[in-house]
Amino acid sequence: MKIISINTLCGLHNMLYDKKKLEINKKIEVKNNFLDINHLFWSQVLSHETISRTINKFVQISSVLGTLSIQEQYVVSAPNTFFNKLIDAKNNIINIETDEENLFSYIETLNIFCMIYSKLLPANFIFTIDQGFHRSSNSAKEMLEHCLLEYSNPYLHFITQTVLPIILESKPDIIFIRGIPNIGSFAVAKLVKQKLPNVHISITNHSTEYYSINKIKNSLLSNVFFFECFDSVVLNHNHIETEKKIIDSLSKNSALSDVPNILYKDSDGSVNATNIDITYPKYDFNTNNIFGKYVNVRLFPKNHCYWNQCTFCGINNKYLNCSATWNIEDAWCQINYLKNKNINYFWSIDEAIPPSILYQLAQKMNCHNCNFIWHTRSRLDLEWINEDIIKELAVSGLTQIRLGFESASIRILKLMNKHENVEEVLNNIEVILKLFFKYQIRVHFPTIIGFPTETLYEREQTINYLKKLKKKYPLFSYNVNILELDISSSLYKNWDKYNITQINLPCPLNDFMGNIVKWYEPIVHSTTPDLEQSRRNAMLSQYTWYPENALTKPHIFYRLYESGRYMLYNMKISDIAKVEYNQNGIVVKKFSDLVSWKTQLGTYITYNPRNHHYYECSESVHNLFNDDNILIDDMRYFSLINELLLNKFIYIYEGR
Ligand code: SF4
Repeated sequence: MKIISINTLCGLHNMLYDKKKLEINKKIEVKNNFLDINHLFWSQVLSHETISRTINKFVQISSVLGTLSIQEQYVVSAPNTFFNKLIDAKNNIINIETDEENLFSYIETLNIFCMIYSKLLPANFIFTIDQGFHRSSNSAKEMLEHCLLEYSNPYLHFITQTVLPIILESKPDIIFIRGIPNIGSFAVAKLVKQKLPNVHISITNHSTEYYSINKIKNSLLSNVFFFECFDSVVLNHNHIETEKKIIDSLSKNSALSDVPNILYKDSDGSVNATNIDITYPKYDFNTNNIFGKYVNVRLFPKNHCYWNQCTFCGINNKYLNCSATWNIEDAWCQINYLKNKNINYFWSIDEAIPPSILYQLAQKMNCHNCNFIWHTRSRLDLEWINEDIIKELAVSGLTQIRLGFESASIRILKLMNKHENVEEVLNNIEVILKLFFKYQIRVHFPTIIGFPTETLYEREQTINYLKKLKKKYPLFSYNVNILELDISSSLYKNWDKYNITQINLPCPLNDFMGNIVKWYEPIVHSTTPDLEQSRRNAMLSQYTWYPENALTKPHIFYRLYESGRYMLYNMKISDIAKVEYNQNGIVVKKFSDLVSWKTQLGTYITYNPRNHHYYECSESVHNLFNDDNILIDDMRYFSLINELLLNKFIYIYEGR
């Protein structure tokens, strides 16, 4: 049996996760039967040749594109500077020691490139580094019908020119496609089946943090459009074992009904689900692939969140089953393996581990003199009011913990069913935080705004509370999500009880491939500012250095920062820069790569490619930026200086 595994075409986050360098090899390698087509795609998009061609072409046609955004004007005004910054971003983004501000600079530069790249395509596709080409559809029918049309599928050229020849050359009997199926996966499957009608194509490893086919497996059973392209779906989280069983079965011409944890299409065209019978491997990570500095590991693969009762949450439904006992020995076995391999950093991706279990694990690590830096997730739980637990965790090297906060409103927390004793938990938040901070453990609060019936007052109450904590505690951080209605959550199943008046599925349920549906609730959806603006403002008030008009949305930046696990290495506490200067005359220097130009409207812009801040300025300030050495003894400039220094346009060179 010839097997080939490929992944789906999506954003660059996998690369940030795996820290794999983008490079073009003359010979495209299929390693261990795996062809990383997403990596190949991005390596082509970000090759020197494509970058150069794209920038040149964009500069050439810029005059006919109408009004250009500031970022586009920057590319046109300084193509060489932009080229160099882009190469720098592409090469350095995977450096795990990158701090927040540099990471932002790289992401923004890459997103500017994605914007101009997509502007040169025949159709208007949204293209960003976090998602690649934005998902055009969640309907299997639509993806099936449109996947071979150039104007609907931006990946088509790459698939036909690069992916298809490699797959056909290897003449596979089975193709495993890893990741969330999208229009690209449909195109690959449809094109391959035109040439190799007997190939078996299976979707596998599709569960991400929030998405999983497991959440829609019942409706998928009657999704004829999906099963026109694909033959099976691996439901088990541990996809490797199930894939082996599929290979074994097909090689013996046996029925797939004996392979547990799958959906499959039978020879008569009927679609079936097999029994749930999960065996867990000893190690949750791939032991052949842990050469990096850190490992993502589910310490307790048999458990999901120990609360599992929040009404909005569908995260636990991606797992097929769950144990009620927490096996410390198994978790320790995994940690010990890492210890023996001299891997000192790990990120536990478990949904939420109880404090007492984490305590026992930390004791075990401390008994064995482990030397880890690690991260985990739990809940805001009164059990945390116990200094012994937190001290033990600190000694074991825990540097950051994520505790779902969600809201500062008692009423909303009750609707969310977040805690048994909401008032008591809210009253003790700072007690818990202070204990963690006493032992230098950072605490991060994921937060949700826009829960049905949340008023503007309640939303502001939440955001103001987060801002207050951030001001008070440097080791505190947060991110703000807008509630998405998960199709497997109890909120979705009981939507009428939460004042939701509309649920909008983009297609019939038995054709739907998504996990999130649109909804409307009058109180939440008629407030101003809208949810998007509130989230942006809340995130910006945490990132004081973030340019207000950046292309990259601050919550997307946060997601990429988290995906890349940069915080494991980056222990620096960002502080609002304190700038002192002498008003009696200072010699300052501008940073050498500033770009300054006159716009079509006759105004002047100065842009800092290092951090993407820009100023719309007067001619005299524009001239000031065009001086190499700027002697600031003109009182007109003093009001500007502090801001210019803060945003790294100029730096103090020497006193006069
Ligand atoms: S505590 Fe977190 S993981 Fe558990 S149910 Fe609530 S939101 Fe989901």
